[in-house]
Amino acid sequence: MGRHAPHRSRSDAGSSTPAADFFARLHDQLGPEVDGLAEALATPPAVSIRAHPAKWGAPTGLSNIPWCTHGYYLDERPSFTFDPLLHGGCYYVQEASSMLLEQAVRATGLLHEPIVALDLCAAPGGKSTHLRSLLHSDALVVSNEIDRRRQQVLVENLWKWGVGNTVITGAAPDKLQGLPGSFDLIVVDAPCSGEGMFRKDPFARAQWSTDLVAQCCTMQRDALDHAWRSLRPGGSLIYSTCTWEISENEAQVARLVAMGGTCLSIPIDATWGVVRSQREGVDALRCYPHRMRGEGFFLAVVRKEGNTTVRQEAPVPRTLEEVSVSTWLLPKCDWHLMERDEVLHAVDPRWSGTVNRIKMALPVLSPGIPVAERKAGTWRPHPGLALSTDLDPSQFTNVPVDTASAIAYLQGHALPAQDADGVGLVTYQAVPLGWVQGAGRRWNNRWPAPWRIRTQQPGAPRVSWSR
Ligand code: SAM
Repeated sequence: MGRHAPHRSRSDAGSSTPAADFFARLHDQLGPEVDGLAEALATPPAVSIRAHPAKWGAPTGLSNIPWCTHGYYLDERPSFTFDPLLHGGCYYVQEASSMLLEQAVRATGLLHEPIVALDLCAAPGGKSTHLRSLLHSDALVVSNEIDRRRQQVLVENLWKWGVGNTVITGAAPDKLQGLPGSFDLIVVDAPCSGEGMFRKDPFARAQWSTDLVAQCCTMQRDALDHAWRSLRPGGSLIYSTCTWEISENEAQVARLVAMGGTCLSIPIDATWGVVRSQREGVDALRCYPHRMRGEGFFLAVVRKEGNTTVRQEAPVPRTLEEVSVSTWLLPKCDWHLMERDEVLHAVDPRWSGTVNRIKMALPVLSPGIPVAERKAGTWRPHPGLALSTDLDPSQFTNVPVDTASAIAYLQGHALPAQDADGVGLVTYQAVPLGWVQGAGRRWNNRWPAPWRIRTQQPGAPRVSWSR
């Protein structure tokens, strides 16, 4: 959002007070209501999480976000970093308004279909992890991010979420030229001027300018044009931003309507405080923090004219050498393995043809579930396998840990043992976290160094839940 738009350095970002221009533009939209918005922007943002339905189910004692089945508000911001369940991918810390994605996906009618979906601007992974939980497990989700630094955190978050049939790519939108009419659903959560994040992110506030709005419009137009050509006839495109600028929102959607798209109305409940916008001939949703418990957000769904059906592909048979490490996965299909940079990834055979076509057009960072990495000439279980919902834990020695030991493990420490041998699977409250290697009186740590907890326990309270 502002943070994810083209960055200016902090020194040239100007004052931390939003420009008078900003409130003048909002006054044009909201009239005197803009005073209520200004007051809301001076209050702390709501804190919310979205639970992983396959890892956590329904947390008790938390209040549900009404537009998101697995979204919950928290009364205060706890120390998430020191909660092992966060590292195990049991929930994602996400702003509440953006969880309206669920209603947009419902409006497309594609929720239960084995579709091919693309999340074009995906890092750090909020929408992709949500899509992955919303869509049918047989659907393929391609999660793409242009920015190299942000690709790493996207990969980490998607591996921790651990749902199969997920491909991670790192391309600029113009690379979609190689995949015309290929996706049934595309999410474009575009880089934007970030006005809706002003109270969460002081840098978004500081870097705002009318020039930034204009630059964002250009990037959004480019991303939408490429995405639109990659959408199959009859498919749907979900467009969102976290800003209130009409030029970045309704005007962008109006261009898709002019190209033959039809806005789908996203159903909402009047009690949610979400505003329906029907400017510029589009039907969209807007969120304002003085009207609801969430940050600024814009959301629309546009269906492309035409009517091709969702494809089904014949599975590709696997070869014998693929069978051995496949036993680390639940036998839900004849897993097809693809190697990338000394890592074997498991792909559902019904998608291997599609994944190969994607590999020809886009740089693929992770084509499927990372199952095994090659070390000293042998394959050993990959950190992403431990976090996968397709792992078969019965294939490994269970090493259950309490909270203190889980935190020590996530900090990179070895764990004490009596007679440790082979590969162990560290579990916390029955949630797999990662691997250890037996060395007699201790389990050597195999939690990836870049994922380690490096901060000191802060003053913030610990989380109040357990599984
Ligand atoms: N969808 C993400 C989520 O829910 O966690 C947030 C995405 S953020 C709003 C926008 C993303 O677009 C950023 O990760 C940014 O790096 C990426 N981006 C920046 N410039 C871009 C461009 N020209 N085309 C496509 N994406 C771009």
